[in-house]
Amino acid sequence: MSAFQTAAQLARAVQSGETSPQQLLQEAQARAQAAQPLGALLSLNDHAAQQAEAVARRVQAGENLPLAGVPIVLKDNINLTGTRTTCASRILENYVSPYTATAAQRLLDAGAVVLGKANMDEFAMGSSTENSAYQPTLNPWDRERVPGGSSGGSAVAVAAGITPVSLGSDTGGSVRQPAALCGVYGFKPTYGRVSRYGLVAYASSLDQIGPFARSAEDLALLMNVIAGHDPHDATSLHAPPQFAVGGAETLRGLRVGVIRESLAGNTAGVEAALQNTLDALRGAGAVVGEVGLPALQYAIATYYLIAMPEASSNLARFDGMVYGVRQPADDVTRSMTLTRERGFGKEVQRRIMIGTYALSSGYYDAYYSKAMKVRRLIADEFAEAFGQYDVLVTPTSPFPAFKRGEKTSDPLAMYAADVDTVAINLAGLPALSVPAGFEEVEGQRLPVGVQFIAPALGDERLVALAGALEAIDAVQMEVPQP
Ligand code: GLN
Repeated sequence: MSAFQTAAQLARAVQSGETSPQQLLQEAQARAQAAQPLGALLSLNDHAAQQAEAVARRVQAGENLPLAGVPIVLKDNINLTGTRTTCASRILENYVSPYTATAAQRLLDAGAVVLGKANMDEFAMGSSTENSAYQPTLNPWDRERVPGGSSGGSAVAVAAGITPVSLGSDTGGSVRQPAALCGVYGFKPTYGRVSRYGLVAYASSLDQIGPFARSAEDLALLMNVIAGHDPHDATSLHAPPQFAVGGAETLRGLRVGVIRESLAGNTAGVEAALQNTLDALRGAGAVVGEVGLPALQYAIATYYLIAMPEASSNLARFDGMVYGVRQPADDVTRSMTLTRERGFGKEVQRRIMIGTYALSSGYYDAYYSKAMKVRRLIADEFAEAFGQYDVLVTPTSPFPAFKRGEKTSDPLAMYAADVDTVAINLAGLPALSVPAGFEEVEGQRLPVGVQFIAPALGDERLVALAGALEAIDAVQMEVPQP
């Protein structure tokens, strides 16, 4: 089968005997090999051939598998037994997963075959995948530019056609923003919709696993497989997934609210893509209005004052005693210090220090506890806006892909890349980035994304909406030139 077929097409071809899981795996491996210069993958799965054979046997035995033989890539912070899970960090260079994340297990149960693990910003901290300790990932639309982050490898795997779908994690935008910068769908489910069991924690109250895909049908397919309650994750919700794509009629009377605060500071191409999408929605009978959420001006500050303290606490477990690479020394304290000094990259160390500071006595009330209050305010403003609108909309990112190195020396500029996405995690809401057009920058066409946000547990509404946008030709899904 050729590249850029959807997961649904591949699974049907396997079920009908037109191709086999082994054949699909070989083709995906060949594409991964050819796409190596993009740096999307950190490792290939040694057990993939075995997985493909097992799926072939199940199909032969008459099982009907929704993802029969579909090759897939997992972000390297998602555990899969027997594979390295490095989180793109030196400290976990030698870490081999002793267990499998629930989301990954559900994919395997549904017939998927894991091709490999995707590059990312170290411990999911970043917006460009440049914080990987191992390699940069290049944007397939312009190799001088970043793919976004932190799930840059997962985004590029799908954008470059290595696999039709992949999983990433989204703490403040890490699925949606790289999806926008690479021109594919990226979906962040309602907090708790997908189990976090087996996802290496960054900021536990914000983290969600989410899919990348090139079609609304594939988003539905994947969500129906990975979502749902998991006894291993006490925060996972009892909400059985019921995803399906909608037709154009879904849009008639749909109340769409543009978030006013997201209208400033965008490039001309981002602005145009948003307006084109709104025009298409109006044309299909949607009612488009504008809504203000003034607390969003505090979203970035609030996000980092919550994400960093949670990270400082979650990452305390990496001291070389149980996990990963240990730096030997004469005494245990020295050994732990050296391990963390050498094992963590600069950005991770910066966040651990700021997070520890914000939690320390005397500062807790001024920073962390204040941020928690603003978090509530933001969630309340969203809830109020959903009294008026069925979905809210913003650009996914104020600008298309930026150049490698452009923001690495200025952490605050890098953090600002998430201005449109972080508030959604603070409020626990579902949001989908839809490829909505292109902006020409220095002679290169760069993808631009538009973000749709739904109320908590409105995940199904967003995937249905994506199908409807496809039906009216409002999704700009193109293939980059190799
Ligand atoms: N860029 C944001 C950060 O660095 C979001 C990352 C994410 O969603 N994992 O924290």
